[in-house]
Amino acid sequence: MKQKALHTLLAVSMIAAGVFATPQAHASKEKPVIGFSIDDLRVERWTKDRDYFKAAVEAKGATVSVQSADANEQKQIQQIENLISRKVDVIVIVPFNAKTLTTVVAEAKKAGIKVISYDRLILNADVDAYISFDNDKVGQMQAQGVVNAAPKGNYFLLGGAPTDNNAKILREGQMKVLKPLVDKGDIKIVGQQWTNEWLASNAQSIVENALTANKNNIQGIVASNDGTAGGAIAALNGQKLAGKVAVSGQDADLAAIKRIKAGTQTMTVYKPIRTIATDAANLAVQLAKGEAPTFTSKMNNGKKDVDTILLTPTLLTKQNVDLVVKDGFYTQAQVGQ
Ligand code: BGC
Repeated sequence: MKQKALHTLLAVSMIAAGVFATPQAHASKEKPVIGFSIDDLRVERWTKDRDYFKAAVEAKGATVSVQSADANEQKQIQQIENLISRKVDVIVIVPFNAKTLTTVVAEAKKAGIKVISYDRLILNADVDAYISFDNDKVGQMQAQGVVNAAPKGNYFLLGGAPTDNNAKILREGQMKVLKPLVDKGDIKIVGQQWTNEWLASNAQSIVENALTANKNNIQGIVASNDGTAGGAIAALNGQKLAGKVAVSGQDADLAAIKRIKAGTQTMTVYKPIRTIATDAANLAVQLAKGEAPTFTSKMNNGKKDVDTILLTPTLLTKQNVDLVVKDGFYTQAQVGQ
């Protein structure tokens, strides 16, 4: 009896000491190492995310290792595996493909590494946290911005990348605004397409084809970000229609701000990158130190209700576009007068 009790005691204390528990990777808790796996640094906003995130992590005494997958699914998986083998404490991921990271996230978790889904939700995976802007609201703002400029007419819906969960949430938000107007007969959706890899060049050819198919009779293009809006506006330009058709966007890319000032793009959505990057850095360091962060909601990713923080976006038109200067996102010199 005594012997058995001793064994139990021994086993309990070994578990407590982590002997049987998940292997604890990791550098010291005072100086955690954070991996940041970014889908694609070719899109302007992600370079800002990288810079702000790095600065915020370093300000907290931690270090960061950044990887960019250049919109390549396999490359992203390999880079995450590499971060796992280097025993980082937390991996923060902007997924290229929402649906193909289940296994690699499971590998990270098995190695005792926490995983944060950044801006885009990773589906069907055991992620510890998700931080983004309210993408449903972004979608509503995009549709509302176009409707305000073109309350009636033919609309084309230019979606984001089919591999990005945000693209679908944006569309749901857009339809919340558009559906009642379609039902009323004010708006007719004459076509819709997703844009592979969110590439401006893909967006341009999609819109060229849509203009041809509709004999240029389109009054509104609900584009899901500024890069694809740029492609759409290049297509409109080819038909001397730039500035005559309402076009939405998001990100407040510098080129988009200039187009809004010039009148060729109707609106964009400003998402202060410094805020998401800084909040994500705090979250990563808290998780690395075993602290409990505060979350504002939960979002189901097909596997679980993921603890989530959703930040607030702002609609920008020609009227309030100067906010990006006031907020320090750009200098007046960058934006021009
Ligand atoms: C982001 C957008 C970005 C797009 C293309 C989306 O998931 O939310 O801000 O423009 O990806 O990279």
